[in-house]
Amino acid sequence: MTIAADIDPQTVLRETFGFAGFRGQQQAVVERVLAGNNTLALMPTGAGKSLCYQLPALVRRGTAIVISPLIALMHDQIRAARSVGIRAASMTSADSDNAETARALREGELDLLYVAPERATTQGFQSLLDTLDIALFAIDEAHCVSEWGHDFRPDYRGLAPMLDRFGHVPRLALTATADLRTREDILVQLGIPADGLVKAGFDRPNIAYHIDARGNVAKQIAELIERTPGAGIVYAPSRRGVEDLADKLRTATGRPVGAYHAGLPPEQRARTQADFVASEDMVMVATIAFGMGIDKPDVRFVVHAGLPKSIEAYYQETGRAGRDGDPAQARLFWTANDFSKARQWLADVEPERLPGERARLNALAALVESAGCRRAILLRHFGEDPPETCGNCDNCLDPPSVVDVSEIARKLLSAIYRTGQSFGIGHVEKVLLGREDERVRERAHDKLSVFGILCEEDAPLLRPVMRHLMAHEMLGTTEHGGLSLGPEARPVLRGERDVTIAKPPEKKRRRDRASAVPNPVGDPLFDALREKRKALASEHSVPAYIIFHDSVLRAMAHERPASLSELGRIQGVGAKKLETWGSAFVEVVREFG
Ligand code: ADP
Ligand code: ZN
Repeated sequence: MTIAADIDPQTVLRETFGFAGFRGQQQAVVERVLAGNNTLALMPTGAGKSLCYQLPALVRRGTAIVISPLIALMHDQIRAARSVGIRAASMTSADSDNAETARALREGELDLLYVAPERATTQGFQSLLDTLDIALFAIDEAHCVSEWGHDFRPDYRGLAPMLDRFGHVPRLALTATADLRTREDILVQLGIPADGLVKAGFDRPNIAYHIDARGNVAKQIAELIERTPGAGIVYAPSRRGVEDLADKLRTATGRPVGAYHAGLPPEQRARTQADFVASEDMVMVATIAFGMGIDKPDVRFVVHAGLPKSIEAYYQETGRAGRDGDPAQARLFWTANDFSKARQWLADVEPERLPGERARLNALAALVESAGCRRAILLRHFGEDPPETCGNCDNCLDPPSVVDVSEIARKLLSAIYRTGQSFGIGHVEKVLLGREDERVRERAHDKLSVFGILCEEDAPLLRPVMRHLMAHEMLGTTEHGGLSLGPEARPVLRGERDVTIAKPPEKKRRRDRASAVPNPVGDPLFDALREKRKALASEHSVPAYIIFHDSVLRAMAHERPASLSELGRIQGVGAKKLETWGSAFVEVVREFG
């Protein structure tokens, strides 16, 4: 693709990418880059970062050099770029045609070159750059340049001198990491002025957040999978947990289920990951080792079978859902035990890190325990000022009632105290409800003042109250798994602090009102278009979404384009895709008359 230098970006957006308009902050970023200004684009996953350098790469003279830390990610992006007609290649240790790529570069035959930082900073590569017209430098995953970031890469430090050598070439740093210190550090390290920061909102309105107490988690997740078509990721906390859950889900659902964790052989991991990227209905059960560097826009759900590490981690992991903008689900299942385990780990943390780690857990507790809008909590955590309600999370769709459980909490804490802080909730519950059994009698717990002080009516609230107390450090666990009073218990016991919780839903499960994907059910044309896409995908060995997203197929089923030019007017259909796939789909539409 060769585009004249004076071409209008809107035209490229429409004709090459097939998009009707820019999304969010894309335009602001693209305009800065086209004007030759250094820029840091801070955008959440799914906001459309790649377009911010791909489009200027087509409009500006020369080749855009994209620095990217992960080879797997590069190859996915090259495939996506080529699918819209961008001339893209990579130079990495995994490519066998580096000499040919260098030749193509010198001849000006490439719009985009992806390269890893360790190569970009070599003398050899810089000499190559000296011979080229460079359109811009894009530094992807730019937080890797900062020691404050969660992914520091020393090679990124070598980039600044190289960028300075080509001081006239605009640089565009991109990241989804929100943290303020990291952000400021990136600006300094990469020589970007403070007013060069373009920050997109962190909201992902198409993701529905639901957080529930964990029971039989395999069953809970299987039910969710059965109601939610499309590919999904299930995060489990350990390798064993992954394998166990994968087995159960394989038996319980009719879906292909993969397992992924660091203990599996690399070839097997690579294969499962490739299967997942290509699949339209696979469920991947994985540790958090999975996901970074996977470019799959049509993930329909992300499930956490246990508490994530932090709000940042939760946001990033759930952000892998619905990058195509179609509705997607983020589900989290937690129990009190997740908190007691996490707090036990804190015992081994160096003292100077302790306050930070506690704050991290408390923020998570506030999220999972809240009766308020989950999205609002997440966005406030990232420094935004969102509306009180979002209409697309469990608590907005089905507001829980808030109940004062101070009395129950006090009774529970006293019973734990009086029974010697060494029993589990089962025993304490019996004591509180006045149920005698051998152990109760043996320990003379039926003689305690707390014996039978809780009425049956309050019994269903006991475990939710326990979860709350555990999440907020009013309860802890002993080495042997017994319940003990936590540092925050005292004010509650003394009646100085009230305890309220979101009343858990009645026995009947909360209904998920948002169906996962608004794909038409039983529309024969839509189904036929999907079939066609599937056949083409397997014939050409590309993932289905590389051909067209679901939203494009929906639009086709609705608009019924009878010609290529009509098809070309649909959002998401650019010139290259029209030429490559258009007639096959128009034919399907025509067959339906
Ligand atoms: P990020 O790298 O920020 O996670 P991507 O660049 O992978 O996001 O883009 C996410 C999805 O959004 C892609 O499927 C892309 O086709 C789509 N997209 C990007 N820009 C637009 C736009 N202006 N209009 C519609 N869809 C877009
Ligand atoms: Zn909400």
